[in-house]
Amino acid sequence: MTIVLDGKKLSLESEKDFALRVDKIKKQNKSTPILATILVGNDPASETYVKMKGNACRRVGMDSLKIELDEKTSTSELKKRIYELNENDNVHGILLQHPVPKHIDERSCFDAIDVRKDVDGVTSLGFGRMSMQERAYGSCTPFGIMRLLKEHNIPLEGKSAVVVGRSPILGKPMAMMLLNENSTVTICHSKTKNLPDIVSRSDIIVGAVGIPKFIKGEWIKDNSVVVDAGYHPEKCGDIDLENIIPRCFAYTPVPGGVGPMTINTLIMQTLESCENYFNSN
Ligand code: NAP
Repeated sequence: MTIVLDGKKLSLESEKDFALRVDKIKKQNKSTPILATILVGNDPASETYVKMKGNACRRVGMDSLKIELDEKTSTSELKKRIYELNENDNVHGILLQHPVPKHIDERSCFDAIDVRKDVDGVTSLGFGRMSMQERAYGSCTPFGIMRLLKEHNIPLEGKSAVVVGRSPILGKPMAMMLLNENSTVTICHSKTKNLPDIVSRSDIIVGAVGIPKFIKGEWIKDNSVVVDAGYHPEKCGDIDLENIIPRCFAYTPVPGGVGPMTINTLIMQTLESCENYFNSN
């Protein structure tokens, strides 16, 4: 029987544990974990994501501090707001919603976030530490995927894995996380040659391309683990799952697979940051 890597189920179960831990902080420390969310401009999809993250905070008893900035905000103005949040002891996590308007240097703004509050796992320092298997918050989508794979005891060691996509927040950290679990990892991108051939030799396939149904079912061998990070308005992902589910070892449904784990991991890491703050103060 094919294993369904059900992100919706795992995220709902985890929320129960998070709510108990939030309650404990409220009782012991007379404080509430707070995630600051920064939205620059008015991209409707980003507005929706920020709203969903705020709702997830509330579901477990945490607060969110919503910062909305004008489309014309400069890089230095945005960094100033981030530095203020770094200094604010009441804020335990900082999320800068990606993407920011094109005139802003997103990388330098991400890197302005104090690594102790980088609960979305976007800083270069956090990425480096994670890669070196030191303590750091993981980039939420790939770390959410790793949590799903671990929950279902999916064997990773010695397996050949392909990550299709190499973005800083998804493809690259995904590849490092699989490498850290002793998979043999190939990273593919828009200049890769013979992609179908590489996919067809892989035990684990992660689709992180951003093109609907780009990875074809016929490229995928029997008994593979198929992880689809994509989500498109037509309610499909980056992998054409049609007809291959019965011959997969495990797969993430779209929707209800990777998506819920991303927000759940953000909430988990904000909570951890708050717990770390009180343990060290
Ligand atoms: P991205 O920044 O646009 O990166 C896409 C990657 O795909 C790039 O590395 C690109 O290669 C590669 N690519 C593009 N065309 C290709 C081709 N023809 N062959 C092979 N590789 C190709 O996207 P992203 O932010 O990583 O997101 C990827 C997908 O994940 C999207 O569907 C997005 O919606 C989804 N996503 C989901 C969540 C979630 O919470 N579920 C979170 C983040 C992203 P180059 O580097 O060569 O350009």
